[in-house]
Amino acid sequence: MRIGIMGGTFDPIHYGHLLAAERVGEEAGLDEVWFMPANVPPHKRGQLNTAASHRLRMVELAIGDNPHFRVANNEVEKGGTSYTVDTMSEIVAKHPSDEFSYIVGTDMIMYLPKWYRIDDLVRIVTFIGVGRPGYELKLHELAPELQSRVKIVPMPLMEISSTHIRERCRNGQSIRYLLPDTVLDYIEVNRLYDV
Ligand code: ATP
Ligand code: MG
Repeated sequence: MRIGIMGGTFDPIHYGHLLAAERVGEEAGLDEVWFMPANVPPHKRGQLNTAASHRLRMVELAIGDNPHFRVANNEVEKGGTSYTVDTMSEIVAKHPSDEFSYIVGTDMIMYLPKWYRIDDLVRIVTFIGVGRPGYELKLHELAPELQSRVKIVPMPLMEISSTHIRERCRNGQSIRYLLPDTVLDYIEVNRLYDV
């Protein structure tokens, strides 16, 4: 099988993530996309205030009706700082006959050279990039070894971010139509982003 991993903090998951996964799945001919919430990504240490269990649950609620989407709870279960290279090594070892790619928005693509042990990571996964407003893609600035392992898939640019959603919640503004209603209800019931 060809499997795409959609990693993120999903604090909360929104339509930008879901559309990216859907379009990449289609364009790259993937059999499944696995949404993998990070426990704590290295670049968000000390900034992540929402329990991993809530973030995982919101992903489950958002993807429940899509038969090609699954949730991978590897990083949440493991705890601590989540290093993609460690998780992907474990996943690849466990599924030797499957082929894995890792989905990233353009904000993350230009940041890839800084990822922990990126040289090892690019050997076991290819990257599939999707556009994100405000982040210009300068693929030629990446090292050739990395460039050759990144494929770009088109999608309608969506100016939605979890940061923006959390901010709107704190200001008492509507977040409807930015994410699935199931997730919206979960946020309200659990008062996740209240002041
Ligand atoms: P935050 O603002 O908290 O960082 P986020 O909206 O960037 O949240 P993440 O969980 O950090 O969401 O992102 C997970 C992955 O999804 C990243 O690779 C990111 O580039 C991608 N992504 C997030 N939002 C979009 C979007 N609107 N369009 C395309 N890709 C996106
Ligand atoms: Mg982000």
